[in-house]
Amino acid sequence: MINEPDSALNGQGFNQLESLENKVLVESMVEATWITDASGRSLQDAPAWRAYTGQTLEKWMEEGWTESVHPDDKDGVIPRWQTALQSKQMSNFVCRLRQAADDWCWNDVRVAPIPGVNGETVKWVGACVDISQQKQAEANFTQSETQFRLLAMLSSDTLYRMSADWRVMVNLRGFDFLADTVVTNGQWFEQYIPTSDQERVRAAIDEAIINKSLFELEHQVYRADGSIGWTSSRATPLLDNQGQVKEWFGTARDITKRKMAEERRVFLLELSDKLRPLASSLEIQKTAASLIGAKLNTDRVIYAEIIGAEDEYLIARNYLASEEVIPVIGNFPAAPFGKWLMDEAKAGNTVVINDVVTDQRLTNSERDAFCQIGVRAFITTPLKKEGKWVAAMKIHHGQARNWTDLEISLVGEIAERTWAAVQRAKAEEALLDADRRKDEFLALLAHELRNPMATLSNTLMVLEMTGGMNHKLPLDKAITMMRKEVVQLVRLVDDLLDVSRINQGKVTLELERLDFSALVNDAVLTALPIANSENRHLTTALPDEPMYVNGDRARLTQVVRNLLSNAIKFTNEDGHIWVELTKEHGYAVLKVRDDGIGIPSDQLDRIFELFVQVNSSRTRLRDGLGLGLTLVKDFVEKHGGRIQVHSAGLDTGSEFIIYLPVIPPL
Ligand code: ADP
Repeated sequence: MINEPDSALNGQGFNQLESLENKVLVESMVEATWITDASGRSLQDAPAWRAYTGQTLEKWMEEGWTESVHPDDKDGVIPRWQTALQSKQMSNFVCRLRQAADDWCWNDVRVAPIPGVNGETVKWVGACVDISQQKQAEANFTQSETQFRLLAMLSSDTLYRMSADWRVMVNLRGFDFLADTVVTNGQWFEQYIPTSDQERVRAAIDEAIINKSLFELEHQVYRADGSIGWTSSRATPLLDNQGQVKEWFGTARDITKRKMAEERRVFLLELSDKLRPLASSLEIQKTAASLIGAKLNTDRVIYAEIIGAEDEYLIARNYLASEEVIPVIGNFPAAPFGKWLMDEAKAGNTVVINDVVTDQRLTNSERDAFCQIGVRAFITTPLKKEGKWVAAMKIHHGQARNWTDLEISLVGEIAERTWAAVQRAKAEEALLDADRRKDEFLALLAHELRNPMATLSNTLMVLEMTGGMNHKLPLDKAITMMRKEVVQLVRLVDDLLDVSRINQGKVTLELERLDFSALVNDAVLTALPIANSENRHLTTALPDEPMYVNGDRARLTQVVRNLLSNAIKFTNEDGHIWVELTKEHGYAVLKVRDDGIGIPSDQLDRIFELFVQVNSSRTRLRDGLGLGLTLVKDFVEKHGGRIQVHSAGLDTGSEFIIYLPVIPPL
């Protein structure tokens, strides 16, 4: 049933709408108009609407305009239309409307209440505007924006949006690189930018804001895992119609690896430049430790050489960040810091501990050992050469600390380079030392030769003048004197020849089965008169039964005599010498001990080197060329044996022990 237009509309807005001009105007702007009563029911036919939507008159009259709304949009439209009816508020709905061509078309549907004379709503007028073009444009825009975002994502690891003044991060998709920001974040600056780089980042942002220009910077950033990384970040301002910045759209790439490589290269270059001119191995250790200490901003750096049976650190230099850090210089047993740590080092593995207190790998006593030297976190990198643990680089920090991959790998690299530089310097130092020792040796040799030769030449002169008839120097005494000097000269020349043979690898042993016990006994008997004449007390403990070795009689005699003559030479008046021969684990073990002047610990290894004499005024008083022990060591080793020396330092006596493999009796 179709009602006539309500008289209440007469003279009201609707009448105006119906006025020809308005009608033309409205119809030129909208697709269709219609009228309903105050409750939203269709009042009369709406030919334009029906023509636009293809709705039948019945449907229009029964169900009204909402019948033409797309089923998917109805849920969004009908409740709001009901609300509008109740609140009597003008409303609009963006929805799809059926078309006469049985198609759907996006429309902006507007409804407005028409007030009656008393201000009450008497009718509703509705109109719809086709917005499909605008929708299409939006869809195109969304599509191109999605494509743009995809593109941005492909070329970057992170996308972000910032407010116009950069105070607020609107959002950030960090993927695995950075933590996401999902709701607007006013704290982003502190959360993403490490303090060390905040100033630089702030300056670049300010400049971009002032110039409304591209923000572009490589800077440090906190990564999603909390570690510090590097990013290359770019953000472009999005401007509104007035040319004002609406917001910034940015992309950021993870350049941590590249930056690390760069940083590493620059640092290693600096290290090489600083180490190259250094000739002293100690200076090299000091410089390398200082450079890495400053670079890692850590409290202590140690370059330790490993001595003994890979169980003792010799620390010559360390880097300390401040005076409060306890220095660790000298010899330290490695075991208290963890047997497992030593095993790792021997296996060539770096150990990284972020917190000594909580790390489960450490025992309480190991923790204490570290705490005592103020270490809360450390990296220790061992160096192995030819299968042996030779050195270690240790980075100590007084606070718990998360060591980064870059830091750990740098320590390894530096340890290697420091070792190489130290070895180079040591080789040069050794060459210089050898050269200096050679000069000293030549001076000594001249001195050693001059004394017997002076005696020989004086005695000969006296003999020439007196024909041996002088009662002060009768012929037999002169001959004894001259023989003694000649023996001395021959011994010197023999030693020199031996050394030169050793150097040329020409020493050959004439091996025979011999009783080493008897050989030692003979050597002692030969030395005894000298010991007695010089007031030394010689005590022996030799086995009664023979102890066979496969040896060169002359060389082994030389070995034992050398040890005995040194013991006599380096012992004071009334001093004691003990000679003991035992058999242990298949070795003949000869110990020659004295309570003489002793040997400083830093010289113990050196005394077997050619021409080395402990540099002390007290050893200088004794003659010798520093050849004896070189020969002893070489001969013993050629017999498949080894030699050891012990001394607790000056004036504590010395003990030389040689081990020779025994052979079973026939
Ligand atoms: P030389 O005795 O001719 O100097 P060696 O090679 O036999 O040469 O010894 C090298 C150095 O080792 C000696 O100069 C001395 O300083 C030290 N040395 C050797 N034996 C002893 C010892 N028993 N006590 C103290 N020092 C010793």
